[in-house]
Amino acid sequence: MILLRKPGQFVDRKIFIGVGSNMGQSDKNCIMAIKMISGDFRVNLRSVSSFYTTSPVSNIEQGDFINCAIEIDWNGTPMELLQFLNGIEASMGRVRGKKNGPRIIDLDILLYGSKIVNEDMLTIPHKELHRRKFAILPCLEIEPDLVLTKPLASFLSEIGDDQKVTRLEHIAFSEDD
Ligand code: ADP
Ligand code: MG
Repeated sequence: MILLRKPGQFVDRKIFIGVGSNMGQSDKNCIMAIKMISGDFRVNLRSVSSFYTTSPVSNIEQGDFINCAIEIDWNGTPMELLQFLNGIEASMGRVRGKKNGPRIIDLDILLYGSKIVNEDMLTIPHKELHRRKFAILPCLEIEPDLVLTKPLASFLSEIGDDQKVTRLEHIAFSEDD
């Protein structure tokens, strides 16, 4: 399919989205969400990281997460991207429950180029990115030189050992699944 971009419309780059799930078949949920993202005409999917298993950062009893990150180009505004991602979460059956509780899919805008956004509904860079190994590691796998206030990699040494994040060898995103 040929995508005709409207003249004058900008495309933002270096956008990193965190994808996570810990309900049902978490790996399949992540793959489905990535396909729904990449299928939109405003999106150019550039990269998908490995998948990782992650012990939940929460006191609520729940299963392990599968997490990965993707890099996209986006033809729209940051707020439109948030609305688009929230729509995918809803269409996959996500019901907003307890904060940090189990979820069928979680799509977070981690980084949006060098853009800083501070609005009620949207904070970019994501306010927890520097504290979450499961978000940092897959982003660095795609782009090792990412920088927040300092190199993203340098935050890893400040994160405690209680976050167990393991790269999965046997599952990966494929367009053909
Ligand atoms: P969390 O991902 O922090 O566990 P939720 O997925 O329930 O929590 O998100 C709650 C709200 O966070 C969303 O409705 C959204 O408006 C807001 N939000 C703020 N900044 C971001 C961001 N960078 N990416 C995604 N959601 C964000
Ligand atoms: Mg979220």
